[in-house]
Amino acid sequence: MERKIQSIRGMKDYLPAETAFWQPLEGTLTGILSNYGYREIRLPIVEQTQLFERAIGDVTDVVEKEMYSFSNRSGERLTLRPEGTAGCVRASIQHGLLYKQEQRLWYLGPMFRYERPQKGRYRQFYQMGVEVFGHQGPDVDAELILLTARCWRALGVSKHLSLELNSIGSLEAKARYGEALVAFLSQHADRLDEDCRNRMHTNPMRALDTKNPEMQDLMRTAPIMIDYLDDDARVHFSSLCKLLDLAGILYTINPRLVRGLDYYNQTVFEWVTTRLGSQGTICGGGRYDGLVEQLGGRPTPAVGCAMGLERLALLLQEVNPGFASTPHIDAYLVVGGGAGVQSEALRLAEQLRDALPSLGLMINYGGGGFKKQLRRADKHGALIALLLGDGEAAEAKVVVKNLATGSQETLPQSDVAARLTAILR
Ligand code: ATP
Ligand code: MG
Repeated sequence: MERKIQSIRGMKDYLPAETAFWQPLEGTLTGILSNYGYREIRLPIVEQTQLFERAIGDVTDVVEKEMYSFSNRSGERLTLRPEGTAGCVRASIQHGLLYKQEQRLWYLGPMFRYERPQKGRYRQFYQMGVEVFGHQGPDVDAELILLTARCWRALGVSKHLSLELNSIGSLEAKARYGEALVAFLSQHADRLDEDCRNRMHTNPMRALDTKNPEMQDLMRTAPIMIDYLDDDARVHFSSLCKLLDLAGILYTINPRLVRGLDYYNQTVFEWVTTRLGSQGTICGGGRYDGLVEQLGGRPTPAVGCAMGLERLALLLQEVNPGFASTPHIDAYLVVGGGAGVQSEALRLAEQLRDALPSLGLMINYGGGGFKKQLRRADKHGALIALLLGDGEAAEAKVVVKNLATGSQETLPQSDVAARLTAILR
Protein backbone atom coordinates (compact mmCIF):
# COMPACT_ATOMS: atom_id res chain seq x y z
CA MET A 1 0.00 0.00 0.00
CA GLU A 2 1.17 3.55 -0.68
CA ARG A 3 2.17 5.59 2.34
CA LYS A 4 -0.60 7.90 3.46
CA ILE A 5 -0.02 11.57 2.91
CA GLN A 6 -0.13 13.59 6.13
CA SER A 7 -0.73 17.27 6.78
CA ILE A 8 2.25 19.61 7.13
CA ARG A 9 3.74 19.90 10.64
CA GLY A 10 2.16 22.79 12.54
CA MET A 11 -0.72 23.15 10.06
CA LYS A 12 -3.89 21.85 11.59
CA ASP A 13 -7.13 20.46 10.25
CA TYR A 14 -10.17 21.89 12.01
CA LEU A 15 -12.66 19.03 12.36
CA PRO A 16 -16.39 19.59 12.95
CA ALA A 17 -16.02 19.33 16.75
CA GLU A 18 -13.69 22.34 16.56
CA THR A 19 -15.53 24.34 13.93
CA ALA A 20 -18.48 24.16 16.34
CA PHE A 21 -16.45 26.66 18.40
CA TRP A 22 -15.00 28.58 15.49
CA GLN A 23 -18.27 29.52 13.82
CA PRO A 24 -19.90 31.27 16.80
CA LEU A 25 -16.47 32.66 17.76
CA GLU A 26 -16.01 34.36 14.40
CA GLY A 27 -19.66 35.40 14.30
CA THR A 28 -19.46 37.02 17.74
CA LEU A 29 -16.27 38.93 16.95
CA THR A 30 -17.32 40.18 13.53
CA GLY A 31 -20.77 41.12 14.88
CA ILE A 32 -19.25 43.31 17.58
CA LEU A 33 -16.84 44.96 15.13
CA SER A 34 -19.65 45.69 12.74
CA ASN A 35 -21.65 47.32 15.57
CA TYR A 36 -18.68 49.61 16.26
CA GLY A 37 -18.68 50.66 12.59
CA TYR A 38 -15.61 48.70 11.50
CA ARG A 39 -15.64 47.21 8.00
CA GLU A 40 -13.97 44.15 6.58
CA ILE A 41 -10.98 44.23 4.26
CA ARG A 42 -9.82 40.97 2.60
CA LEU A 43 -6.19 40.79 1.67
CA PRO A 44 -4.02 38.34 -0.26
CA ILE A 45 -2.17 35.66 1.67
CA VAL A 46 0.96 36.15 -0.43
CA GLU A 47 2.81 39.47 -0.57
CA GLN A 48 6.24 40.64 -1.68
CA THR A 49 8.86 39.60 0.88
CA GLN A 50 10.12 43.18 0.93
CA LEU A 51 6.84 44.39 2.44
CA PHE A 52 7.39 42.39 5.61
CA GLU A 53 11.10 43.12 5.78
CA ARG A 54 10.37 46.83 5.66
CA ALA A 55 7.31 46.85 7.93
CA ILE A 56 8.16 44.32 10.62
CA GLY A 57 11.89 45.03 10.75
CA ASP A 58 14.95 43.01 9.68
CA VAL A 59 16.08 42.13 13.16
CA THR A 60 12.93 40.52 14.55
CA ASP A 61 12.09 36.88 15.21
CA VAL A 62 9.44 36.98 12.51
CA VAL A 63 11.65 38.22 9.68
CA GLU A 64 14.85 36.49 10.78
CA LYS A 65 13.50 33.02 11.39
CA GLU A 66 9.79 32.61 10.93
CA MET A 67 8.79 33.61 7.39
CA TYR A 68 7.72 31.20 4.68
CA SER A 69 9.45 32.80 1.72
CA PHE A 70 9.91 31.46 -1.79
CA SER A 71 10.50 32.60 -5.35
CA ASN A 72 7.78 32.15 -7.92
CA ARG A 73 8.39 31.11 -11.52
CA SER A 74 9.34 34.60 -12.59
CA GLY A 75 11.79 34.98 -9.73
CA GLU A 76 9.80 37.39 -7.52
CA ARG A 77 10.55 37.04 -3.80
CA LEU A 78 7.26 36.23 -2.10
CA THR A 79 6.19 35.44 1.45
CA LEU A 80 3.12 33.86 3.05
CA ARG A 81 1.91 36.64 5.31
CA PRO A 82 3.12 36.23 8.92
CA GLU A 83 0.73 38.97 10.10
CA GLY A 84 -1.91 41.26 8.65
CA THR A 85 -0.96 44.86 9.45
CA ALA A 86 1.69 45.20 6.73
CA GLY A 87 -0.68 44.01 3.99
CA CYS A 88 -3.50 46.16 5.34
CA VAL A 89 -1.31 49.28 5.23
CA ARG A 90 -0.02 48.33 1.77
CA ALA A 91 -3.58 47.94 0.45
CA SER A 92 -4.83 51.12 2.13
CA ILE A 93 -2.05 53.16 0.51
CA GLN A 94 -2.42 51.43 -2.86
CA HIS A 95 -6.17 52.12 -3.06
CA GLY A 96 -6.10 55.64 -1.63
CA LEU A 97 -8.10 54.69 1.45
CA LEU A 98 -6.05 57.00 3.62
CA TYR A 99 -6.38 60.15 1.53
CA LYS A 100 -8.20 62.75 3.68
CA GLN A 101 -10.24 60.11 5.43
CA GLU A 102 -10.25 57.83 8.39
CA GLN A 103 -10.57 54.04 8.17
CA ARG A 104 -11.77 51.50 10.70
CA LEU A 105 -11.01 48.06 9.32
CA TRP A 106 -10.89 44.42 10.32
CA TYR A 107 -9.71 41.22 8.63
CA LEU A 108 -9.68 37.58 9.52
CA GLY A 109 -7.64 34.77 8.05
CA PRO A 110 -4.63 32.49 8.18
CA MET A 111 -1.11 33.69 8.96
CA PHE A 112 2.08 31.65 8.60
CA ARG A 113 5.13 31.50 10.83
CA TYR A 114 7.82 28.85 10.92
CA GLU A 115 7.82 28.31 14.70
CA ARG A 116 8.12 25.25 16.94
CA PRO A 117 4.59 23.82 16.98
CA GLN A 118 3.04 23.27 20.42
CA LYS A 119 -0.29 23.90 22.11
CA GLY A 120 -1.39 27.40 21.09
CA ARG A 121 1.48 27.84 18.62
CA TYR A 122 1.15 26.64 15.04
CA ARG A 123 2.73 27.29 11.66
CA GLN A 124 -0.58 28.17 10.08
CA PHE A 125 -2.82 30.03 12.52
CA TYR A 126 -5.74 32.40 12.28
CA GLN A 127 -5.82 35.99 13.37
CA MET A 128 -8.54 38.54 13.52
CA GLY A 129 -6.95 41.94 13.11
CA VAL A 130 -8.37 45.41 13.66
CA GLU A 131 -6.75 48.61 12.33
CA VAL A 132 -7.78 52.25 12.68
CA PHE A 133 -6.14 54.89 10.49
CA GLY A 134 -6.28 58.65 10.79
CA HIS A 135 -6.63 59.28 14.53
CA GLN A 136 -3.95 60.30 17.00
CA GLY A 137 -5.70 58.85 20.04
CA PRO A 138 -5.70 58.20 22.91
CA ASP A 139 -9.50 57.90 22.57
CA VAL A 140 -9.23 55.43 19.69
CA ASP A 141 -6.59 53.46 21.61
CA ALA A 142 -9.14 53.22 24.41
CA GLU A 143 -11.90 52.23 21.97
CA LEU A 144 -9.83 49.31 20.69
CA ILE A 145 -9.29 48.10 24.23
CA LEU A 146 -12.97 48.52 25.13
CA LEU A 147 -13.99 46.74 21.96
CA THR A 148 -11.76 43.77 22.72
CA ALA A 149 -13.00 43.73 26.33
CA ARG A 150 -16.55 43.55 24.95
CA CYS A 151 -15.52 40.59 22.80
CA TRP A 152 -14.21 38.73 25.87
CA ARG A 153 -17.45 39.38 27.73
CA ALA A 154 -19.54 38.16 24.80
CA LEU A 155 -17.44 35.00 24.61
CA GLY A 156 -17.72 34.44 28.36
CA VAL A 157 -13.94 34.42 28.88
CA SER A 158 -13.28 37.85 30.42
CA LYS A 159 -12.67 36.40 33.90
CA HIS A 160 -9.63 34.63 32.52
CA LEU A 161 -8.03 37.55 30.70
CA SER A 162 -6.04 40.45 32.01
CA LEU A 163 -4.75 43.54 30.28
CA GLU A 164 -1.11 44.62 30.24
CA LEU A 165 -0.26 48.08 29.07
CA ASN A 166 2.85 50.08 28.30
CA SER A 167 4.04 53.04 26.31
CA ILE A 168 7.22 52.81 24.28
CA GLY A 169 7.22 56.50 23.36
CA SER A 170 8.21 58.25 20.17
CA LEU A 171 10.81 56.86 17.78
CA GLU A 172 13.36 59.29 19.32
CA ALA A 173 12.53 58.16 22.84
CA LYS A 174 12.87 54.56 21.68
CA ALA A 175 16.35 55.42 20.40
CA ARG A 176 17.37 57.14 23.70
CA TYR A 177 16.07 54.22 25.67
CA GLY A 178 17.88 51.85 23.30
CA GLU A 179 21.20 53.46 24.28
CA ALA A 180 20.50 53.00 27.98
CA LEU A 181 19.55 49.40 27.33
CA VAL A 182 22.74 48.70 25.36
CA ALA A 183 24.75 50.11 28.28
CA PHE A 184 22.89 47.78 30.65
CA LEU A 185 23.31 44.76 28.37
CA SER A 186 27.04 45.47 27.94
CA GLN A 187 27.45 45.47 31.73
CA HIS A 188 25.95 41.98 31.80
CA ALA A 189 27.49 40.72 28.56
CA ASP A 190 28.85 37.57 30.23
CA ARG A 191 25.34 36.49 31.29
CA LEU A 192 23.58 37.07 27.97
CA ASP A 193 22.36 34.19 25.82
CA GLU A 194 23.26 34.12 22.16
CA ASP A 195 20.06 35.82 20.99
CA CYS A 196 20.38 38.72 23.41
CA ARG A 197 24.08 39.15 22.64
CA ASN A 198 23.33 39.26 18.91
CA ARG A 199 20.56 41.75 19.39
CA MET A 200 22.43 44.06 21.72
CA HIS A 201 23.73 46.14 18.83
CA THR A 202 21.14 45.43 16.15
CA ASN A 203 17.82 45.73 18.02
CA PRO A 204 18.33 45.93 21.79
CA MET A 205 14.63 46.24 22.64
CA ARG A 206 14.11 42.75 21.25
CA ALA A 207 16.10 41.52 24.26
CA LEU A 208 13.23 42.58 26.53
CA ASP A 209 10.88 40.25 24.67
CA THR A 210 13.09 37.20 25.35
CA LYS A 211 11.37 33.88 26.01
CA ASN A 212 14.40 32.54 27.96
CA PRO A 213 13.48 32.51 31.70
CA GLU A 214 17.06 33.31 32.79
CA MET A 215 17.14 36.30 30.47
CA GLN A 216 13.68 37.34 31.68
CA ASP A 217 15.09 37.45 35.24
CA LEU A 218 17.94 39.64 34.12
CA MET A 219 15.62 41.92 32.15
CA ARG A 220 13.61 42.59 35.28
CA THR A 221 16.54 44.71 36.46
CA ALA A 222 16.98 46.58 33.15
CA PRO A 223 16.20 50.29 32.80
CA ILE A 224 12.53 50.88 32.01
CA MET A 225 11.07 52.72 29.05
CA ILE A 226 8.69 54.85 31.09
CA ASP A 227 11.68 56.81 32.46
CA TYR A 228 12.67 57.77 28.90
CA LEU A 229 9.31 58.83 27.52
CA ASP A 230 8.95 62.17 25.77
CA ASP A 231 6.29 64.58 27.09
CA ASP A 232 3.79 63.80 24.31
CA ALA A 233 3.91 60.10 25.00
CA ARG A 234 3.65 60.67 28.74
CA VAL A 235 0.48 62.76 28.32
CA HIS A 236 -0.93 60.31 25.77
CA PHE A 237 -0.34 57.39 28.10
CA SER A 238 -1.80 59.01 31.20
CA SER A 239 -4.88 60.12 29.22
CA LEU A 240 -5.35 56.57 27.97
CA CYS A 241 -5.07 55.23 31.52
CA LYS A 242 -7.70 57.76 32.64
CA LEU A 243 -10.09 56.74 29.87
CA LEU A 244 -9.70 53.09 30.88
CA ASP A 245 -10.24 53.96 34.55
CA LEU A 246 -13.43 55.81 33.63
CA ALA A 247 -14.64 52.79 31.66
CA GLY A 248 -13.86 50.50 34.58
CA ILE A 249 -11.23 48.48 32.69
CA LEU A 250 -8.59 46.95 34.95
CA TYR A 251 -5.00 46.85 33.69
CA THR A 252 -1.44 46.34 34.80
CA ILE A 253 1.34 48.58 33.55
CA ASN A 254 4.11 46.28 32.38
CA PRO A 255 7.24 48.35 31.66
CA ARG A 256 8.86 45.42 29.82
CA LEU A 257 6.07 44.97 27.32
CA VAL A 258 7.54 45.85 23.90
CA ARG A 259 5.79 43.54 21.37
CA GLY A 260 7.55 41.48 18.74
CA LEU A 261 7.38 43.78 15.74
CA ASP A 262 9.39 46.95 15.15
CA TYR A 263 6.66 49.24 13.90
CA TYR A 264 5.05 50.06 17.24
CA ASN A 265 5.35 53.40 19.08
CA GLN A 266 3.59 54.87 22.13
CA THR A 267 0.72 52.62 23.29
CA VAL A 268 1.30 48.86 23.35
CA PHE A 269 -0.98 46.33 25.02
CA GLU A 270 -1.60 42.63 25.41
CA TRP A 271 -4.48 40.58 26.75
CA VAL A 272 -3.06 37.53 28.51
CA THR A 273 -4.42 34.42 30.20
CA THR A 274 -2.85 31.97 32.61
CA ARG A 275 -5.06 29.14 31.33
CA LEU A 276 -3.02 28.13 28.26
CA GLY A 277 0.47 27.55 29.66
CA SER A 278 3.22 29.59 28.10
CA GLN A 279 1.16 30.56 25.02
CA GLY A 280 -0.81 33.00 27.12
CA THR A 281 -1.07 36.05 24.87
CA ILE A 282 -4.50 36.09 23.28
CA CYS A 283 -4.41 39.53 21.71
CA GLY A 284 -1.70 42.12 21.17
CA GLY A 285 -1.63 45.55 19.65
CA GLY A 286 -0.59 49.13 19.78
CA ARG A 287 0.06 52.34 17.91
CA TYR A 288 2.17 52.42 14.73
CA ASP A 289 2.12 56.04 13.65
CA GLY A 290 5.23 55.76 11.44
CA LEU A 291 4.34 52.72 9.37
CA VAL A 292 2.17 54.28 6.67
CA GLU A 293 4.88 56.78 5.80
CA GLN A 294 7.56 54.13 6.03
CA LEU A 295 5.69 52.12 3.37
CA GLY A 296 5.34 55.10 1.05
CA GLY A 297 2.09 56.76 2.16
CA ARG A 298 1.46 60.18 3.70
CA PRO A 299 2.10 60.36 7.45
CA THR A 300 -1.00 58.81 9.03
CA PRO A 301 -1.52 57.96 12.69
CA ALA A 302 -2.63 54.38 13.21
CA VAL A 303 -3.47 51.90 15.92
CA GLY A 304 -4.41 48.23 15.74
CA CYS A 305 -4.43 44.86 17.37
CA ALA A 306 -4.66 41.20 16.44
CA MET A 307 -6.10 38.25 18.29
CA GLY A 308 -5.05 34.64 17.89
CA LEU A 309 -8.17 32.62 17.16
CA GLU A 310 -6.67 29.20 18.04
CA ARG A 311 -5.82 30.48 21.50
CA LEU A 312 -9.30 31.95 21.88
CA ALA A 313 -10.87 28.68 20.70
CA LEU A 314 -8.70 26.71 23.16
CA LEU A 315 -9.73 29.04 25.96
CA LEU A 316 -13.40 28.67 25.01
CA GLN A 317 -13.11 24.87 25.01
CA GLU A 318 -11.57 25.05 28.45
CA VAL A 319 -13.68 27.62 30.25
CA ASN A 320 -16.92 27.88 28.23
CA PRO A 321 -17.56 24.55 26.45
CA GLY A 322 -21.27 25.36 26.10
CA PHE A 323 -20.33 28.07 23.61
CA ALA A 324 -20.05 25.48 20.81
CA SER A 325 -22.90 25.54 18.34
CA THR A 326 -24.24 22.13 17.40
CA PRO A 327 -25.97 21.83 14.05
CA HIS A 328 -29.63 22.35 14.47
CA ILE A 329 -31.67 19.45 13.05
CA ASP A 330 -35.43 19.72 13.60
CA ALA A 331 -36.63 16.82 11.53
CA TYR A 332 -35.23 13.55 10.14
CA LEU A 333 -36.83 12.02 7.08
CA VAL A 334 -37.05 8.24 7.49
CA VAL A 335 -37.25 6.50 4.12
CA GLY A 336 -38.65 2.99 3.66
CA GLY A 337 -39.82 0.79 0.78
CA GLY A 338 -38.77 0.62 -2.87
CA ALA A 339 -36.34 2.62 -4.95
CA GLY A 340 -38.96 5.16 -6.02
CA VAL A 341 -39.42 6.29 -2.43
CA GLN A 342 -35.90 7.71 -2.12
CA SER A 343 -36.53 10.11 -5.00
CA GLU A 344 -39.93 11.00 -3.51
CA ALA A 345 -38.09 11.76 -0.25
CA LEU A 346 -35.72 14.11 -2.06
CA ARG A 347 -38.68 15.92 -3.66
CA LEU A 348 -40.62 16.19 -0.39
CA ALA A 349 -37.58 17.48 1.50
CA GLU A 350 -36.95 20.22 -1.07
CA GLN A 351 -40.63 21.18 -0.92
CA LEU A 352 -40.42 21.52 2.88
CA ARG A 353 -37.19 23.53 2.66
CA ASP A 354 -38.89 25.90 0.21
CA ALA A 355 -41.80 26.37 2.59
CA LEU A 356 -39.68 26.65 5.77
CA PRO A 357 -36.29 28.16 4.92
CA SER A 358 -34.93 27.85 8.48
CA LEU A 359 -35.98 24.22 8.93
CA GLY A 360 -33.14 21.84 9.88
CA LEU A 361 -33.97 18.70 7.89
CA MET A 362 -31.87 15.62 7.14
CA ILE A 363 -32.77 12.76 4.81
CA ASN A 364 -31.81 9.20 5.64
CA TYR A 365 -29.52 7.62 3.03
CA GLY A 366 -28.31 4.05 2.77
CA GLY A 367 -31.50 2.34 3.89
CA GLY A 368 -31.85 0.57 7.22
CA GLY A 369 -34.95 -0.56 9.12
CA PHE A 370 -37.29 1.96 10.76
CA LYS A 371 -35.75 1.36 14.21
CA LYS A 372 -32.26 1.97 12.96
CA GLN A 373 -33.32 5.11 11.12
CA LEU A 374 -35.12 6.42 14.21
CA ARG A 375 -31.92 5.92 16.21
CA ARG A 376 -30.10 8.06 13.64
CA ALA A 377 -32.82 10.72 14.03
CA ASP A 378 -32.16 10.73 17.77
CA LYS A 379 -28.42 10.93 17.29
CA HIS A 380 -28.84 14.10 15.27
CA GLY A 381 -31.07 15.61 17.93
CA ALA A 382 -34.18 15.74 15.73
CA LEU A 383 -37.44 16.49 17.49
CA ILE A 384 -39.53 15.07 14.68
CA ALA A 385 -39.29 12.02 12.41
CA LEU A 386 -41.07 12.10 9.07
CA LEU A 387 -41.82 8.57 7.88
CA LEU A 388 -42.17 7.96 4.16
CA GLY A 389 -42.81 4.38 2.98
CA ASP A 390 -44.32 2.89 -0.21
CA GLY A 391 -47.89 3.38 1.08
CA GLU A 392 -47.39 7.04 2.09
CA ALA A 393 -45.54 7.85 -1.13
CA ALA A 394 -48.33 6.35 -3.27
CA GLU A 395 -50.96 8.49 -1.50
CA ALA A 396 -48.87 11.69 -1.24
CA LYS A 397 -48.94 11.39 2.54
CA VAL A 398 -46.31 11.25 5.29
CA VAL A 399 -46.31 10.17 8.93
CA VAL A 400 -45.26 12.92 11.34
CA LYS A 401 -43.85 11.45 14.56
CA ASN A 402 -43.11 13.67 17.53
CA LEU A 403 -40.02 12.04 19.05
CA ALA A 404 -40.43 13.83 22.36
CA THR A 405 -43.99 12.61 23.03
CA GLY A 406 -44.06 9.51 20.81
CA SER A 407 -47.37 10.58 19.25
CA GLN A 408 -47.76 10.27 15.50
CA GLU A 409 -50.25 11.14 12.78
CA THR A 410 -50.58 10.60 9.02
CA LEU A 411 -50.99 13.82 7.04
CA PRO A 412 -51.25 14.85 3.38
CA GLN A 413 -47.77 16.07 2.34
CA SER A 414 -49.23 19.49 1.56
CA ASP A 415 -50.15 19.94 5.27
CA VAL A 416 -46.79 18.93 6.70
CA ALA A 417 -45.12 22.34 6.61
CA ALA A 418 -47.88 23.90 8.70
CA ARG A 419 -47.82 20.96 11.14
CA LEU A 420 -44.01 21.24 11.56
CA THR A 421 -44.33 24.94 12.24
CA ALA A 422 -46.89 24.26 14.95
CA ILE A 423 -44.80 21.53 16.65
CA LEU A 424 -41.56 23.47 16.49
CA ARG A 425 -42.99 26.76 17.73
P1 ATP B 1 4.02 35.24 20.95
O1 ATP B 1 4.74 36.13 21.89
O2 ATP B 1 3.10 34.26 21.61
O3 ATP B 1 4.94 34.60 19.93
P2 ATP B 1 3.56 37.36 19.10
O4 ATP B 1 3.92 38.57 19.84
O5 ATP B 1 4.53 36.79 18.14
O6 ATP B 1 3.06 36.20 20.11
P3 ATP B 1 1.64 38.79 17.48
O7 ATP B 1 2.51 38.93 16.30
O8 ATP B 1 1.38 39.96 18.32
O9 ATP B 1 2.15 37.57 18.37
O10 ATP B 1 0.25 38.15 17.01
C1 ATP B 1 -0.99 38.44 17.67
C2 ATP B 1 -1.59 37.18 18.26
O11 ATP B 1 -1.60 36.11 17.33
C3 ATP B 1 -0.84 36.62 19.44
O12 ATP B 1 -1.17 37.30 20.62
C4 ATP B 1 -1.32 35.18 19.47
O13 ATP B 1 -2.59 35.09 20.10
C5 ATP B 1 -1.46 34.87 18.00
N1 ATP B 1 -0.29 34.12 17.50
C6 ATP B 1 0.93 34.61 17.18
N2 ATP B 1 1.73 33.64 16.73
C7 ATP B 1 0.99 32.49 16.76
C8 ATP B 1 1.24 31.13 16.39
N3 ATP B 1 2.41 30.74 15.89
N4 ATP B 1 0.24 30.22 16.58
C9 ATP B 1 -0.96 30.60 17.08
N5 ATP B 1 -1.25 31.87 17.43
C10 ATP B 1 -0.30 32.81 17.27
MG1 MG C 1 5.87 35.16 18.18
